[in-house]
Amino acid sequence: MSPDDDRAGPTGADHETPARPRARRPNWLPVAIAVVAAMLMVAGVVVVSDLVAGDGDTASDITPAADPNAPDSAATALRDSRARLASVDCDPPELQPGRESARAYYTGVLDCLDRAWRPVLDRMGVEPQPASVDVADVRTTECGELPPADRALGLYCDADHTIHLPYSRLATAAGETHEPAFLATLAHEYGHHIQALTGVFAEAGNAMSDADAAVESEVGRRFELQATCFAGLFLDATRANRGAEAAVQDFADWSGVDSHGGARLQKQWASTGFNGGSVAACDTWSAPAADIGGTGTPDSGSGAPASP
Ligand SMILES: [Zn+2]
Repeated sequence: MSPDDDRAGPTGADHETPARPRARRPNWLPVAIAVVAAMLMVAGVVVVSDLVAGDGDTASDITPAADPNAPDSAATALRDSRARLASVDCDPPELQPGRESARAYYTGVLDCLDRAWRPVLDRMGVEPQPASVDVADVRTTECGELPPADRALGLYCDADHTIHLPYSRLATAAGETHEPAFLATLAHEYGHHIQALTGVFAEAGNAMSDADAAVESEVGRRFELQATCFAGLFLDATRANRGAEAAVQDFADWSGVDSHGGARLQKQWASTGFNGGSVAACDTWSAPAADIGGTGTPDSGSGAPASP
């Protein structure tokens, strides 16, 4: 299982979460964002990266334990497929205040995500499996305990393909009706679902397993930035629909996301996906260090937020 999230150190057991960050707006609690670092759990063990607090990792010559560029790697296969998402009309119910409205909104967007990504999975010979969204303020998931609200907005659990986005967290952070934040967040988490179905998730987990902190940090950032780039691909596929461009911009508002490469790089990779055309554009695994950031670099802009 695995999710991304922010973490706190290796934990041994269970779970993780993907977490998303976000930051934003007026009510956003700065803290809450620290979200995310990618944690992957492999075979019951959580791997994780904590880099967030890490020290300036110079990601440059770090090579993941499991080379994502190896010929048989899932990351390489995905990149080389040159697959493209299908353009889809996406008109989910308008987001209104309240948990039920959020559930309906997410459900509508999820249908769009399934349709848009289907050609990619078909091209890779991967059987599509549905993801579900849970907006309950649960504490426990199939992947273990959710991280505290001040650490993560949500998490993707690959054990049951559920995207946990406790309503109160994002509503508090971004505002109950701020659709771009809900859209961007769900699209990013669905990116982890695609990573899980295509083997990238497990591969990243393997690369982080037994790796030192610097490698965990780097792999975590490449993993998270790819999920954000995948979100950009989806937003491009729905570019004609309301909120798509605003959602791309929304990534610039994420704060506390050093583990995700920092706000500037989140926005950069969301834009790369939005303008990239195919999944090959989201090859964060081959990207130079300057494009994946690192704690302590000028890019890790945590904290900075917010656009109006
Ligand atoms: Zn994530």
